[in-house]
Amino acid sequence: MTSPLQFSREHLYQFQVFRDVSIDPIWELVRNCELSSLSEGDVLLKKDQPNRTMFFILAGSLKVYLDDEHQREAAEFGQGQTVGELSVIDGSTASAHVVSGGETFLLCVDEETFWRVTHASHGFCTNLLMLLSLRMRSSNLSLEESENLQGKFERQAVTDGLTGVYNRRWLDEMLPRLLQRSEQDELPFCVLMIDVDHFKNFNDSYGHIVGDIALRTVADTLVKKVRPIDLVVRYGGEEFCVLLPETDLQSGIGAGERLRKAIRKAEIFDGSGKPIPSITISAGLAERRAGENADDMLNRSDQALYMAKEQGRDRMEVSA
Ligand code: GH3
Ligand code: MG
Ligand code: MG
Repeated sequence: MTSPLQFSREHLYQFQVFRDVSIDPIWELVRNCELSSLSEGDVLLKKDQPNRTMFFILAGSLKVYLDDEHQREAAEFGQGQTVGELSVIDGSTASAHVVSGGETFLLCVDEETFWRVTHASHGFCTNLLMLLSLRMRSSNLSLEESENLQGKFERQAVTDGLTGVYNRRWLDEMLPRLLQRSEQDELPFCVLMIDVDHFKNFNDSYGHIVGDIALRTVADTLVKKVRPIDLVVRYGGEEFCVLLPETDLQSGIGAGERLRKAIRKAEIFDGSGKPIPSITISAGLAERRAGENADDMLNRSDQALYMAKEQGRDRMEVSA
């Protein structure tokens, strides 16, 4: 099965098992591993069946059930998490049923590659030990405790519940690493900060539920219109942030304008399918300066966004 998702090195940064790990040697090993795409309800693993693959969730979610009827959900794993590692390590059968919770894209690391990665990366092994100890604890927990654990997984999630794009927590953790990376590789990097125009009025006119639909439309449009290596984040409320790796200011301007126009054109429908007037966004663009940190870059893109609002909205301004 192939995935419509273009797999790139940037995807690896989001995984717990790759936290503070040098990505290059791992990328070289896993870049040609199989990608898989699942629809809601597709069964990935069956309890007590053999499994020789560690699955990395690139997008979407996997639900874990202990019973054959898929009634008792024991845990849900999302983007940046993995399943299957235990059976790869000890050759055991799967300990639970694992079912796709929606459109889900997986990187499938086979047994041989898995062991190569353990040889190549001490950091990966350390993270894996942490992860396994957490899993072991969870399997010994009472139902009440396992609910607590599920809450913990939810808090640790890196995606936004409403729109499915990365959340602020992910951005705070990843942007410094991505900037460091682009500095090392001497590649440009742009940040585009986006805010929906007059969204309070929109909510007042059409209601909060249609407002939520509009926010989802914005996120979907951004995701569809960016390049595969670009990353879309819900920064908060009606604010989004698009990270544009390997992008200089001129290309960033092109991308920002393309996104602004796409959102203007995007159709929004209310719950009953009635079309709602489209919305506009204002945007602020900043290109990474040598040695610049994440906070400063976000601040500059935010100032540019503020200028765009001042200049009348539905436009993009660039940080000088
Ligand atoms: P501006 O053009 O200056 O950005 O005006 P604005 O009205 O968009 O800005 P303001 O900050 O005054 O209002 C933001 C609004 O966004 C208010 C808030 O209710 C709405 N909002 C934030 N998060 C959500 C959400 O998750 N769902 C919905 N429906 N509305 C949200
Ligand atoms: Mg705002
Ligand atoms: Mg706004």
